[in-house]
Amino acid sequence: MNNLLVAENVSKHFGDFKALNDVSIAVPKGSIFGLLGPNGAGKTTLIRIINQITMPDKGKVYLDGEALKPTDIQNIGYLPEERGLYKSMKVGEQALYLAQLKGMSKQDAKARLKYWFERLEIGDWWNKKIQELSKGQAQKIQFIVTVLHRPKLLIFDEPFSGFDPINATLIKDEILQLREEGATVIFSTHRMESVEELCDHIALIHRSNKILDGKLIDIKRQFKTNTFEVGLQTQDSEAVVSSIKERFEVLPATFKNLNDDIKLNVKLAENVSSNDLLSFLTSKAEVHHFVEVIPSANDIFIQTVKRN
Ligand code: ADP
Ligand code: MG
Repeated sequence: MNNLLVAENVSKHFGDFKALNDVSIAVPKGSIFGLLGPNGAGKTTLIRIINQITMPDKGKVYLDGEALKPTDIQNIGYLPEERGLYKSMKVGEQALYLAQLKGMSKQDAKARLKYWFERLEIGDWWNKKIQELSKGQAQKIQFIVTVLHRPKLLIFDEPFSGFDPINATLIKDEILQLREEGATVIFSTHRMESVEELCDHIALIHRSNKILDGKLIDIKRQFKTNTFEVGLQTQDSEAVVSSIKERFEVLPATFKNLNDDIKLNVKLAENVSSNDLLSFLTSKAEVHHFVEVIPSANDIFIQTVKRN
């Protein structure tokens, strides 16, 4: 069994509104799976169904090949979009309580909390109340509570919203480390920077429908346009540019660099190889920059959403 989590043909209505329409996803073991989509697409609804907080009208969810069951909360760590800790309860007490709800012994929970509090440098908060903490500090606690019981599946709903860049980077690195240690991760986001850094698989949800999914690298291959960034130095810019334009389709340069005389994006026809372009360029000028344009997750997101 290669997939840790499979959702099959999941639909969900709220009154007359269809929040999910026949959505299926398959999350490979050990992957970081990005659930992407604009606000209101249905991401949180799907995540709540996977966490058995909401029941689907139709469809099924399987964890490790078996239909989800109530005890699976021990196998899943869930960071909800609406962060919620008991404000007047002390940090340590609350974390211990939540850990025990997920099946940990008090002793094991204490040891793990000690480890995480040291790791995220929050040692002296044990006896503070949540309401005494800053938002960023409270989010660290909530992250710890999510991962503490070492679940095989971690689900983060918009994990980076509300974090400052330093804490966002910290959490990102911790997510990568948890995957390293064997966890499978699903996270939702409508922000694309984190997708490039973290995801190996994605599913794009738009208006309650899944409109794209797969391995990120395969999707990038599907969207590539055979375009190369070219940076050249020469004494004779005008003549060189016009000789390139005679043979190739030239687009405005979209990349930034420091000091090339000529900057172009060159789009190759189907039967032309990158080597054909490169040897032409080296015969005309000094090549300083030659890189294939890889479509960004952001470009792919925008193109696909517009098309639908
Ligand atoms: P996302 O997380 O992708 O931003 P959500 O899954 O939260 O989107 O919401 C999808 C749509 O379903 C939204 O239009 C939202 O208003 C609606 N919705 C979500 N939960 C409920 C609910 N409990 N009752 C009514 N409508 C809901
Ligand atoms: Mg949401």
